Amino acid sequence: MKFTKGHTVIIASVSIVLIIGIIVTFYACRPEAQSRRTLAVSIQPQRFLLEQIAGKYYDVVSLLQDGANPEQYEPSMNNVMALEQCDAYFMVGHIGFEAAILNRVTVSRPDLKVCDTSAGINLINTPHGTAAGDPHVWASVRNARIMAQNMLAALVELDSKHESYYRRQCLALLKHLDELDNDITMRLDSCGNKAFVVWHPALSYFARDYGLTQIAIEDASGKVSQQRLRQVIDQAREQRAKVFFYQKEFDKRAVEAANQEIGSQLVEFSPMAYDWYDEMLKISQAIRNNSR
Ligand SMILES: [Zn+2]
Repeated sequence: MKFTKGHTVIIASVSIVLIIGIIVTFYACRPEAQSRRTLAVSIQPQRFLLEQIAGKYYDVVSLLQDGANPEQYEPSMNNVMALEQCDAYFMVGHIGFEAAILNRVTVSRPDLKVCDTSAGINLINTPHGTAAGDPHVWASVRNARIMAQNMLAALVELDSKHESYYRRQCLALLKHLDELDNDITMRLDSCGNKAFVVWHPALSYFARDYGLTQIAIEDASGKVSQQRLRQVIDQAREQRAKVFFYQKEFDKRAVEAANQEIGSQLVEFSPMAYDWYDEMLKISQAIRNNSR
């Protein structure tokens, strides 16, 4: 069959109508997608906190996903675009990639509002990779309290119209955090054994909050020498550490070998997971259950 010029015009018109139809249907199904403004955070636990305060008015996007390693992270083009399009960026504060990505984005978005969610947190001064202090501030209920208040202050500046709403939401969140903190405190107070092992030292602030001893296999620069491994295993045995926290991203065989020598119980945890509340509970429960 040969197309005349008239046929081609008709087919082209039908195609255009179809395409427009598809586009209209697509957006009609997701009316929110185009109108919602976004806030960016670095990691999922921050998304968990910020959504509870601002989720009614903003979508919150996390630059890193659950299993990502923030210390060796290279920002992607998608990350840069997410920051270029958001209304404000809530950084953790002391993770190496954050300064790098901000340098790139402030060229195209010099007006971007940036909130350092760790402002006011009493940093543990262990140098860690490129960071001056221990960057894992979010793995602490008490630090999360400060982070939530920093988030609130930034939101009130950004969108003062909804100030009273944000304040109410933040208060409710703080109440929840206080309950969680009390719950964990009670759980761990009566704990006979306060030492635990972790492959990567992600729980320094958690340990500080509850008077626990974190024994980390990796040193602060992320290295494990044979000599260090020996020392750490000896220390863990001496202090009768009964729980060994590991992240599934790490080499399971090395974890199992060290765990066997220590005689502890392996517990998987995800310090970067969205379910931050459950992770905090799980860590405290594991320490408590294995301390008897
Ligand atoms: Zn780390």
